[in-house]
Amino acid sequence: MRQSQLFTKTRKEIPADETSKNAQLLLRAGFIHKELAGAYAFLPLGQKVLNNIINVIREEMNAIDGQEISMTALQDKSVWEKTDRWDDKNVDIWFKTKLKSDQAVGLGFTHEEPITNMMTQFVRSYRDLPKFVYQFQTKFRNETRAKSGIMRTREFVMKDLYSFCHSKEEQDAYYDKVKNTYIKIFKRLGLGDRTYLTFASGGSFSKYSHEFQTICDAGEDEIYIHHDKHIAINKEVMLPEVLKDLGIEEKDLRIEKASEVGNIFSLGTRFSDAMGLNFNDEEGNKKEVWMGSYGIGPARVMGVIVETLSDEKGMVWPHEVAPFALHLVSLGKEGSESQKKAEELYDELRKHKVDVLFDDREVGAGEKFADSDLIGISIRAVVSEKSLQAGGVEIKERKGDKSEIISVEQFIKMYTNCCDDCNH
Ligand code: ATP
Ligand code: MG
Repeated sequence: MRQSQLFTKTRKEIPADETSKNAQLLLRAGFIHKELAGAYAFLPLGQKVLNNIINVIREEMNAIDGQEISMTALQDKSVWEKTDRWDDKNVDIWFKTKLKSDQAVGLGFTHEEPITNMMTQFVRSYRDLPKFVYQFQTKFRNETRAKSGIMRTREFVMKDLYSFCHSKEEQDAYYDKVKNTYIKIFKRLGLGDRTYLTFASGGSFSKYSHEFQTICDAGEDEIYIHHDKHIAINKEVMLPEVLKDLGIEEKDLRIEKASEVGNIFSLGTRFSDAMGLNFNDEEGNKKEVWMGSYGIGPARVMGVIVETLSDEKGMVWPHEVAPFALHLVSLGKEGSESQKKAEELYDELRKHKVDVLFDDREVGAGEKFADSDLIGISIRAVVSEKSLQAGGVEIKERKGDKSEIISVEQFIKMYTNCCDDCNH
């Protein structure tokens, strides 16, 4: 894509009403637009990052037999009454509205109820289980606080996966599989080192649930981390009994601020019982369906990446989530040799389907470099009179100061193959 054609612009000033670092940088770079407090539009560069995050998650969900669907935001009151989660006294974040007929509807803040209800139409016999179903779907939550930019909003896409199993044992085994998959996902998203499998309270169906917490100053949670074991304990379950369970001593723990990027829950039979979801076993006996639910907030992940990996010049995206695989920057004046060379390179890269952002704008080098640093694509390739004289293209990684000149041929060869393993 040609940067001159992007409808968004970078800006220098920090929006006065934004206190969070992620929103400040994303707004300045033109990745997002603030609609109202806690509601942001994703613009071309931001949407590409979000899609890359979603694609990593989708690949990993498919690898553990997830089947992708898309459920509705509009929700039927009667379904939620079956679990007692319609009443505002029990759930205080509902957005509710009414149809013209006066019938009440809600905007879904999660989907355990409707998906369990839906599955009653498809699950009859033991042959129909286990099943694993997920979606990337917009949730609505009337959050009290919305001050962390895209990390806590009132409308956001969630990846929610639900498992439907024959037995507790089968459900426990799948839960473990998801746990390992989440570890892999956060590693791929560049947050592996600072994301901790965190023990939290399990509700009434299991001793613990697990949160995936990323150490982050802007996070709203506090966790006790065990550095060597790379696990953590949520503040609410920081009890002697839990320490004993995990074979951990309090003196080895360190308190850190963190943000919950994902979580996994055993639901037992709470929802299946309420919705009448059951199956006939091989002997024809009616049995309960065991469930789990597993969430990740892709936009919160994106915000946490900005919060934790940026530097004083701007954002630093891990390669797999960067809005483009490559930032090609031309410094040549209109009609110059180097400008022609840059245009040629851009065409060649496009022919090979390399996802490249081409800075073809007629602005000074200083402005181009500042914008490139702000946008944060992992690799920058500069074509200028100087670079051509030195032998080709100047390659610089966004992280660190190293740069090198490589020949045009070498450059083409390198970058036409670079994305075989990633989403670009
Ligand atoms: P929190 O305690 O931070 O409010 P939660 O316990 O409400 O999170 P879930 O309901 O389990 O979270 O949602 C699953 C995932 O969705 C979370 O792990 C988080 O990544 C994301 N998420 C939750 N609330 C929001 C929000 N308001 N804005 C953006 N992402 C969110
Ligand atoms: Mg919440």
